[in-house]
Amino acid sequence: MINSYKLKAMNDFLIKYESAHHEQQPHSFPCTLLLSPSQKCNFRCRTCVQRHTSEELPPETLKKLEAILPYVTLVDFVGGEPLLLDSFDQVIDWGSKYGCKLETVTNGVLLNDRWRERIVENMTNIRISVDGPLKKLTNTSGGIRT
Ligand code: SF4
Repeated sequence: MINSYKLKAMNDFLIKYESAHHEQQPHSFPCTLLLSPSQKCNFRCRTCVQRHTSEELPPETLKKLEAILPYVTLVDFVGGEPLLLDSFDQVIDWGSKYGCKLETVTNGVLLNDRWRERIVENMTNIRISVDGPLKKLTNTSGGIRT
């Protein structure tokens, strides 16, 4: 792992300094990266605001983002459904390589042994959306599997 704890601490300090001084052209990097590389999902919840297009952020863009990871404290990976995306595997690798905390939210249906192992070993926080305690309630509120 790249030892970037000092870089993250210095970046956090710079963010606070530039914010306190209303810096118009900041030199700090974001401390949190909210990454939504695709809106693909295996559900069609009635309450969902996403468009569920099949597009996915190209690998070159992810590669460019990698340059700021030594400064980033938290990567929050959201979809669509993260477990459908190849880029989720890559982001999990980023966490251990750059010492970033990793979070995600999933509907949980695609959790298998491989994902469970990857998530438990590498992620800080995983949120699983549950619409209700009964299958018929989940289906009523929109958790319709496609
Ligand atoms: S699981 Fe989440 S992303 Fe998928 S359709 Fe439901 S609300 Fe939307």
